[in-house]
Amino acid sequence: MTEAIRPQPGILDIALYEGGKAHVAGVANAVKLSSNENPFGPSDKSKEAFTRTVHTLHRYPNTDHLALRTAIAEVHGLEASRIICGAGSDEVINFLCQAYAGPKDEVVYTEHGFLMYRIYAMAAGATPVEVPERERTADVDAILAACTRRTKLVFLANPNNPTGTMVSAAEVARLAAGLPTQAILVLDGAYAEYVEGYDGGAALVDARDNVVMTRTFSKIYGLGGLRVGWGYGPKHIIDVLNRVRGPFNLSTTQLEVAEAAVRDQEFLVRCRSENARMRVWLAGALAELGVPTDTSLANFVLARFASQEEAESCDTFLQGQGLIVRRVAGYKLPHCLRITIGDESSCRRVAHAVAQFKGVK
Ligand code: PMP
Repeated sequence: MTEAIRPQPGILDIALYEGGKAHVAGVANAVKLSSNENPFGPSDKSKEAFTRTVHTLHRYPNTDHLALRTAIAEVHGLEASRIICGAGSDEVINFLCQAYAGPKDEVVYTEHGFLMYRIYAMAAGATPVEVPERERTADVDAILAACTRRTKLVFLANPNNPTGTMVSAAEVARLAAGLPTQAILVLDGAYAEYVEGYDGGAALVDARDNVVMTRTFSKIYGLGGLRVGWGYGPKHIIDVLNRVRGPFNLSTTQLEVAEAAVRDQEFLVRCRSENARMRVWLAGALAELGVPTDTSLANFVLARFASQEEAESCDTFLQGQGLIVRRVAGYKLPHCLRITIGDESSCRRVAHAVAQFKGVK
């Protein structure tokens, strides 16, 4: 590196994000339970839409995403003009940081919150501010206490990854109402679809002018590889975000597959109920083996071990059995493993392997 060529201040302090492991050396067909993916993959309708788009790949995609925004708006009962689509909800989070946070500004998120909040805040030159949680659950009073005149964005994933815990609608409303006037509350609803009857915070967005909700097609829609997410917010904020959005940020394939996916709510309902069934089962099986979990509202459980050493040796054992779960030391939970709820046979294999590890069976 030459002395003269340097990135913006703070960029070299960013720790690289590490995705969930996908392979174990020497193990063929390992079961990947490390990235909260839908074990059933995308719906048939999404796959059909994907195939259809091959015929129009010589055309540029549309720049306004109108058909996808309209589909999302119809399904969720929202205003299409206040929706913005991005390459995963990651990109929407990035737009928010880029547009609203800069040097000397603060971006607040919670102790076990999603790592990309910190990364995008730092990429924008802002100062990340991490707030302690209580029993692996966001603490609204602590978040409010951490806000200052410099706070521009407050990120809260609800349910949160990797804890799976949730803050009540009343608490979230109290948080939105208590923020300093220059701050935006971003409700990250990456796992919102797993909570039956939950709107991800859409009603709060409609009721206020300082709340944005982000959502994704990567989880329950089984489209993590496609990279589509969206945000819903007050008009004044969505207008700003569209100014930093590249006109062709989503391909025709991304747009059309996501549209087919969101219109197939039957698939979503089936995935949600199967996830709930196996989540209860796996949490129960782990509890019987002396491995507690918090009540998760998402598509994973956070298994707590007695120590970091035990968590790591259980992870190594599971890998040997062809089961890939996620270490979460980077989320300040070194004694835990995050296990995605797979299909029934994967969940049974996990429980069986943990039992062997514990010497129970
Ligand atoms: N928020 C949370 C809480 C997440 O767990 C994830 C995915 N790991 C995302 C946002 C980003 O997802 P995507 O960019 O795939 O939409």
